[in-house]
Amino acid sequence: MIPQSNSLIHLPLSGFNAQSIPPCQKLILDFEIGSAPDGTKWSISILVVKGEKAGPIFLVNGGTHGDEYEGPIAIQEMFQTLDPSHVRGTWLGIPVLNEPALRIHSRVGRYDQQDLARTFPGQAKGTLTEQIAHGFGQNVLKQADYYADLHSAGSSLRMVFLSGYGVVDNQEVLNTQRRMALAFGGDLIWGTPLYPGRTISQAAEFGIPAIYAETHGTGGARRQDIDRYREGIQNLMRFLGMLEGPYPTRPARFFRESGDVNQQEGYLQLDHPSPCRGLFVPQVDLWDEVVSGQPIGNIVDAAGRIFATVRSRRSGRIILVRHALSVNENDPLAVVVEGLE
Ligand SMILES: [Zn+2]
Repeated sequence: MIPQSNSLIHLPLSGFNAQSIPPCQKLILDFEIGSAPDGTKWSISILVVKGEKAGPIFLVNGGTHGDEYEGPIAIQEMFQTLDPSHVRGTWLGIPVLNEPALRIHSRVGRYDQQDLARTFPGQAKGTLTEQIAHGFGQNVLKQADYYADLHSAGSSLRMVFLSGYGVVDNQEVLNTQRRMALAFGGDLIWGTPLYPGRTISQAAEFGIPAIYAETHGTGGARRQDIDRYREGIQNLMRFLGMLEGPYPTRPARFFRESGDVNQQEGYLQLDHPSPCRGLFVPQVDLWDEVVSGQPIGNIVDAAGRIFATVRSRRSGRIILVRHALSVNENDPLAVVVEGLE
């Protein structure tokens, strides 16, 4: 049985209080999170599984970007399988954080074209995307003890399965994040500098241990990727003591950590931007090993004439490659990570 929404009239998100929910509950709570310039009200659904026994508050969301579907479906399915009598603490699942972007199958907001993952901390009376950042940050994320943000490559890119975290100054938080990322799993466990505006940078400001995950994307959701995200959430809950059972403590394949901000490692959009508009013809695929200077692909015109050859900036492995091949200047084409042997 799936519980029904609390009400047709959505309450303001400032009224959300995870602590005040009685134990042994499974609820869907709908809240108003912002209003658009045309007056349209937008809401957010918080799925709550409050365990019989006391424990931490663990928040997980998908749909920070509106063209990423693996996280939303995994969180919806996780909610259906979790049994409050077997859970310690409180699981908060937000399948879709950014409904205005999801509604138009877009990375950015419907009214303001803003990227929610560049907008935190947002503002209460700002654009709709800024309202979402502010409302979510101040009223939901702030209440969490642990946090995970499930992304994917979205409609225009293709990525490996990875879990990542920001290399924060607080050593205790950093250690917890490493262990959270290991527990969640992935073919790459990746610690990188923390960039402003993200959900996980807001979590860092609050002192909340946080990870993010990435997976295949291409504008759909493969069953294997949804299942791996569900397994990741379950393993993370085991690590946090919310569920019984084993979880990974070692990387399955690759581990890398780099806190060097100057290298911009982990900033996926800036690694190999397209030098011009055209058709990108890739010469590499995910996990390929490349050497510095090796061609990643060509940008060609309609006749196949080469505008530019894009070369790898470093030796390493491909973890992201362009999927939608008609590109504009500065569109991300590939990400190469070194040190994955
Ligand atoms: Zn994303």
